[in-house]
Amino acid sequence: MIREMSADLLEKHNVVNAPVDVEQIVHAMHLDVRKDRVEGDISGFLFRDHEKSSAIIGVNCNHHSNRQRFTIAHELGHFLLHTGDKVHVDRGFEVRLRSDESSKGTDIDEKEANLFAAELLMPKAFVERDLDEIGAVDLMEEKTIKTLADKYQVSPHAFAFRLSYLGYVQQ
Ligand SMILES: [Zn+2]
Repeated sequence: MIREMSADLLEKHNVVNAPVDVEQIVHAMHLDVRKDRVEGDISGFLFRDHEKSSAIIGVNCNHHSNRQRFTIAHELGHFLLHTGDKVHVDRGFEVRLRSDESSKGTDIDEKEANLFAAELLMPKAFVERDLDEIGAVDLMEEKTIKTLADKYQVSPHAFAFRLSYLGYVQQ
């Protein structure tokens, strides 16, 4: 369902190639993006306006631009997938990408938002096409991961995780 949602969104906004311009999509959806320098590990927040069914997405621009893109996509995931609290603040969710030991409700929301972000920034169809194009290469090779991560404007860590999630590499 999350994959279909993000695929529909990409189609609607005519995105056919990486890198996905997530800010443009968010703006086209009439959501506001506010960038601020914040000390510490806060990556972003979602401030919902239930009345206008809109929201403000906050991004810590102290962080790397790749991470900011992931944050925007993650908050957009919350906006589309989860109703609830007016304000949602995220801290260092990238670190938790790999962890799946907890099954608390909030963690499920975080995992869904992360999955949405991954599907949006690294769509399965795009990744499959790019892997076909570069042919048989060692996907564990750091250089390959880096090249692809640069193309998608995501962190090598996020791209490696995505390849693993899609079943291309075992970790
Ligand atoms: Zn979150």
